[in-house]
Amino acid sequence: MDKSADVAIVGAGIVGLAHAYMALRKGLKVVMFEREQFAIGASVRNFGMVWPIGQEPSGGLDRALRSREHWREIVAQASIWCNQNGSLHLAYADDEQAVLEEFVALYRHAGYQCGLISPAEALRRSPAIRKEGLRAALWSETEMVVYSREAIRQIPLWLEEKYGLILRFGHVVTDITLPLVRSSKEIWKVDRVVICSGADFETLYPHDFEKQTLTKCKLQMMKAVLKQPASFGPSLCAGTTLRHYAAFSKCKSLKKLDERLDIEEPKLKEHGIHILVSQNSTNEVIIGDSHHYFKSVEPFDSEEVNELILRYFEKFVTADYHITERWNGTYPKVPGSLHIILEPESRVQIVNGLSGAGMTLSFGLAEEIVSAW
Ligand SMILES: Cc1cc2nc3c(=O)[nH]c(=O)nc-3n(C[C@H](O)[C@H](O)[C@H](O)COP(=O)(O)OP(=O)(O)OC[C@H]3O[C@@H](n4cnc5c(N)ncnc54)[C@H](O)[C@@H]3O)c2cc1C
Repeated sequence: MDKSADVAIVGAGIVGLAHAYMALRKGLKVVMFEREQFAIGASVRNFGMVWPIGQEPSGGLDRALRSREHWREIVAQASIWCNQNGSLHLAYADDEQAVLEEFVALYRHAGYQCGLISPAEALRRSPAIRKEGLRAALWSETEMVVYSREAIRQIPLWLEEKYGLILRFGHVVTDITLPLVRSSKEIWKVDRVVICSGADFETLYPHDFEKQTLTKCKLQMMKAVLKQPASFGPSLCAGTTLRHYAAFSKCKSLKKLDERLDIEEPKLKEHGIHILVSQNSTNEVIIGDSHHYFKSVEPFDSEEVNELILRYFEKFVTADYHITERWNGTYPKVPGSLHIILEPESRVQIVNGLSGAGMTLSFGLAEEIVSAW
């Protein structure tokens, strides 16, 4: 086979897949290298949430909404399971309700598709949520869920079938000296390269990574099976999430909530815990997460952290469940930025640092990057 292409992509996580998709739609010949037999990085360890509600209007909101449109097209064409189920932010305290009210008032015309609903309406949308003490909820229409470990395996195969993506799983890219890209097994001639290597800063252009303020964030996650099959409806979260996402950061009422949570539950901030809950098609729910920052990621999971996560989960969810899986994932983060794009040499781009929003933002970001070629 002629080992030449227009574009080489390094990494078959969501960032690499999004760039491959955009380049293929542009009519380019694309080869994708993934060092594992299938992707096993952050993109298969997450909640599978496409979460525009977490993005600020002046930040990633528009990009997230465009990404969501691409997701909708892809899941329909590739027969990937997805639930366009929206989300509920639940308020069980006055200060949580105040943040939701301020958010809705502040961003009435910002492009979110959300509004405050009563406890009765929230319970109608999700029978799994705890009724006692519920004061209000923010219902948002734009969130959707895929089961990432399935979706991330299916998308490359669909891109291969539909657009002729050339897949090279089990190939570590070890050197790029354009026009040549060397993997552990082959040498390819290409016009440009996009490096989407996730938490691997060490293999390609390590000096360029070292100059950045990138850190690695480790998150603990769990999967539960419900003892009685039940539909949770929207993806769920509560007070802790309001202080996690940038979308709520301009709300002045957040300070009071933050101070109260620090007094009542100091360990949550210590471990960067906020709780999200997503459900897949098979009666399973994914629950997380914590945030710990490292240069080299500590491999050992803390059971104390898992217990804190589950204790908070049970404050707003009533289901009977047992835990079937525990794992951790790592994403790179650049403080104060939604991503980094580096160009260590002409026509070689490193796209990284999408932190906790790679599933939400990748298609929109890749669309912008590829359209500028
Ligand atoms: C626990 C957890 C929960 C999250 N939840 C969400 C969520 O619900 N919604 C959301 O929007 N975001 C979420 N995120 C963030 C999201 O998962 C990440 O932003 C995204 O997956 C990053 O994708 P990536 O392609 O950069 O990295 P990865 O998925 O890690 O992929 C990088 C790939 O590159 C490969 N690779 C590296 N170097 C080489 C090389 N030299 N040669 C060949 N292959 C190479 C690796 O093997 C890997 O497969 C979550 C993250 C975590 C960890």
